[in-house]
Amino acid sequence: MNVYKLNEDKLKEELRHALDREEFCLLYQPKLNLKTGRLCGVEALIRWEHPERGIISPLDFIPAAEETGMILPIGEWVLRTACEQNKAWQEKGLSPMIMAVNLSACQLFVDGLAEKVQSILDESGLAPEYLELEITESMTMDVDSVLPVLHKLKQIGVRISMDDFGTGFSSLYHLKEFPIDSIKIDRSFVRNCTNDSKDATIVKTIIVMAHQLQLEVIAEGVEFKDHLVFLQQNLCDEAQGYLFSKPVPPVELVNIIPILEEVIPIEGISPESSR
Ligand code: C2E
Ligand code: MG
Ligand code: MG
Ligand code: MG
Repeated sequence: MNVYKLNEDKLKEELRHALDREEFCLLYQPKLNLKTGRLCGVEALIRWEHPERGIISPLDFIPAAEETGMILPIGEWVLRTACEQNKAWQEKGLSPMIMAVNLSACQLFVDGLAEKVQSILDESGLAPEYLELEITESMTMDVDSVLPVLHKLKQIGVRISMDDFGTGFSSLYHLKEFPIDSIKIDRSFVRNCTNDSKDATIVKTIIVMAHQLQLEVIAEGVEFKDHLVFLQQNLCDEAQGYLFSKPVPPVELVNIIPILEEVIPIEGISPESSR
């Protein structure tokens, strides 16, 4: 057995106890409305605070959690914690925000997801319109099994968003067939939208197409002011990225709202003239 395999087995073993030991936490990354400049939502992003290894990124443990099935209880914990947090913010008097939660493919394929979401909403007291579930194109390959689940979720009243848009398969088919409310343009396109004409075209085209299909568009990975200007000029609805804030703990989020809402100049930018 090689070292890598040993490590992976150990990680999986440790994952089994991590929930009971309360080693997970959620950070929240703001989403800004580009028309109003106001905070309109957050995305919940999980971290594993490992007692010896320090903070472990979801990219390094979600695959193992999926392989072991641990993603189901972990995913449920994420949903519950995020809904409770959003409800707590509302009770504190913050303007209502939409809480986005990432789903894993395993969660979509297990029976009873919609019932679980419903009971978490009931228990937390959060209204369904303040919860958004982020799915990715790769999860939706098996249309026949996924479509009924998505319709059930829509019946509950939660929002559905297509994450990392443009990096998966048959995206246009999904846009047409799936009951989604918004799409998130993948960071890889946003990153170069101001210095690569192909990326610029892709971003602009996704925005126009989404709007014509009555979908909202969010740009992820917005790091620089010129990205923001480009997105505003092209009428993107929302943006998320390090330009505004990294994912932060809940207490910090409340403190940074006034600063966040100053990042976006809301006047003086007119839509780019059509070429
Ligand atoms: P994602 O859903 O696409 O989340 C966006 C990722 O981009 C986050 O990484 C975020 O920290 C990062 N990011 C945001 N703005 C910027 C930026 O301006 N520049 C750069 N370079 N990065 C930015 P994170 O938190 O490491 O999460 C990685 C992925 O792990 C997520 O990608 C999502 O697919 C998955 N993930 C995170 N939390 C959960 C969870 O609770 N459940 C599941 N199933 N997956 C999760
Ligand atoms: Mg996401
Ligand atoms: Mg994403
Ligand atoms: Mg991503």
